[in-house]
Amino acid sequence: MLIIEKIQDTWAAICNHYRPGDIEIAGVILSQVVGFIIPATIYLLIDIIFPSFSRKHKLQQRQPTWAQIRHCIKISLMNQIWIAAAHILGVYLQGLDHSFLIMDPKLPSFTMLASDFIFGMAAREILFYYIHRALHHPSIYVYIHKMHHKYTAPISFAAEYAHPVEHVLANVLPIVAPLTIKGTHFLSLMAFTVFELWEAAADHSGYDFLKLPPASIHDLHHEKFRVNYSTLGIMDWIHGTDVVGWDRPKRKEIQFAPGKERKDK
Ligand SMILES: [Zn+2]
Ligand SMILES: [Zn+2]
Repeated sequence: MLIIEKIQDTWAAICNHYRPGDIEIAGVILSQVVGFIIPATIYLLIDIIFPSFSRKHKLQQRQPTWAQIRHCIKISLMNQIWIAAAHILGVYLQGLDHSFLIMDPKLPSFTMLASDFIFGMAAREILFYYIHRALHHPSIYVYIHKMHHKYTAPISFAAEYAHPVEHVLANVLPIVAPLTIKGTHFLSLMAFTVFELWEAAADHSGYDFLKLPPASIHDLHHEKFRVNYSTLGIMDWIHGTDVVGWDRPKRKEIQFAPGKERKDK
């Protein structure tokens, strides 16, 4: 309990000493660094420093080249920077004495935090599924989403390697919009954003250590394209798109169960 009280005191002090806009800007930058840049870098370092461990534990044995890795990191960081800059500009324009988000000096309760996570994950699952599936429509795919599918071999930074339109519609909105509209506590939104960004990096890393949810779901999407459009697998199960060849009914179908090892692929 003591640690909760210390966090409460620290958060209350931050709220008392800094303007809401300053806190929001710090939160935007910190969430990107803690949730994405640090985990994605760690996953990449595993590939480089421990290649035999990497070969043993990666879902796919294919590896991107150094040139591909450098290009992926560059575009991914550019997406992070421009979306953070747009958010920070919005905060400045409305004035630093205000915030788009709820800056309550009292910490959210555990029950509220849990309900925000459940709501956020459900909303993201639904939104990401339909937006992602729409991006695979033949009249849209080549212009926007094809860029994200450049990397069929797993690399953590590929989570944010996307066309700017896709980055806003599929990467940012499904995570941020539901809890913002719900009017959740700023710290709930930051914690949820960090979790979802880490999950995106894990999904693209090729490693499936924690299975929260199984990275194998989205890894298979990058390998086979027209399968597993969601992140949790629930919307794919509902729509029957969790099976390779679901859109080619005459061909032999390969059942994919989330969480199963796919060392044979
Ligand atoms: Zn992806
Ligand atoms: Zn896709």
